[in-house]
Amino acid sequence: MQDILVIGAGVIGQLSALQLASAGLRVTLVDAAQAGQESSWAGGGIISPLYPWRYSPAVTALAQWSQAFYPRLAGQLLAQTNIDPEVHATGLFWLDLEDEMLALQWAQALGKPLVPVDMAQVRTVIPALGDGFTRAVHMPGLANVRNPRLLKALRVALLQLPNLCLQENAAVTGFITEAGRVCGVQTRQGQLRAGQVVLAAGAWSGELLAGLDIQLPVEPVKGQMILYQCAADFLPAMVLGKGRYAIPRRDGHVLVGSTLEHAGFDKTPTGDALASLKASAEALLPALAQAEVVGHWAGLRPGSPEGIPFIGEVPAFPGLWLNCGHYRNGLVLAPASCELLKNLLLDESPIVDPGPYSPAGRLGSCA
Ligand SMILES: Cc1cc2nc3c(=O)[nH]c(=O)nc-3n(C[C@H](O)[C@H](O)[C@H](O)COP(=O)(O)OP(=O)(O)OC[C@H]3O[C@@H](n4cnc5c(N)ncnc54)[C@H](O)[C@@H]3O)c2cc1C
Repeated sequence: MQDILVIGAGVIGQLSALQLASAGLRVTLVDAAQAGQESSWAGGGIISPLYPWRYSPAVTALAQWSQAFYPRLAGQLLAQTNIDPEVHATGLFWLDLEDEMLALQWAQALGKPLVPVDMAQVRTVIPALGDGFTRAVHMPGLANVRNPRLLKALRVALLQLPNLCLQENAAVTGFITEAGRVCGVQTRQGQLRAGQVVLAAGAWSGELLAGLDIQLPVEPVKGQMILYQCAADFLPAMVLGKGRYAIPRRDGHVLVGSTLEHAGFDKTPTGDALASLKASAEALLPALAQAEVVGHWAGLRPGSPEGIPFIGEVPAFPGLWLNCGHYRNGLVLAPASCELLKNLLLDESPIVDPGPYSPAGRLGSCA
């Protein structure tokens, strides 16, 4: 049995560990804090890029594979853990898109069911929608996942596996190398050795790689979000206008997001963002002006060039693998990214062409 050590227990690290342990490998998953409390918890859980036509085919390929896989993943986790990740297929309405033509051309080329709809139709579905919107396109069936529940279910599923060891509150401080090969990590609690090490530490991945003099272009991009509790039928579909979106959960919670801020590793929610998110929420759904904001938080997305994740072995350091840099789409891209990582580690035929995600040629030197 092969030993794998995965650094970071966000959605990427947890799902990587689950796929690898389910394939029979012996896996250790380490996190600096509690599993699943960072970006993967903070996200909105839309199982699609916000504007999928603005991304490269590399992002689309992973998104498509994951979208098909999510209902099965949620079903498996529910059966195994009794925790429902709540994949909620509400569809999504985009309002007043400036690049509507591009969106429709993209959809036609890929056979996606994105269609223009008139505003009267949108209002029939969402009676609470605000005035002032003039055009809409709709993708039926598009879903969101209740990401905090997904993470809880993943953690319980992982703990059921005899060949998986989860070590929380064990921050990795550096890599152990021998003869140019990475063969383990140093943590605050001591050394952990493994045949292969996977770096899935989200926005913190770059800091860790800098210890090997590798410059990984992944940086924290702060995103703030607010939460309302509404009647279960208040918002029957996801809606996105002027760069902001509202996501309904099955029990009537409505999330409104998000900000995009370059503020280093600071995760403090701010009054300015609260006011701006409330204004967006009330423009989309005016009745929210009378509703209480029951939650407000921030998370750090692992920002990367064009949002294309790094998946594969680091050429200069055999034994060190990356699965990080998923930027705004880590929840939607997670199943495919982790399956691809497993394919590469186990020399299986890959679900998609691994070329665009390969770290080769995309890393710099800190020297
Ligand atoms: C406001 C907001 C909205 C979003 N909405 C969506 C959406 O609708 N759909 C979508 O697909 N994506 C969305 N995202 C993006 C998505 O959340 C991220 O891309 C994804 O969560 C990244 O997952 P990750 O596992 O790489 O990172 P994280 O979830 O951040 O996990 C990284 C883990 O590494 C651990 N770690 C860090 N340093 C160390 C260390 N030294 N040693 C050990 N462990 C360490 C951390 O503790 C953490 O648990 C959103 C993000 C935000 C912030």
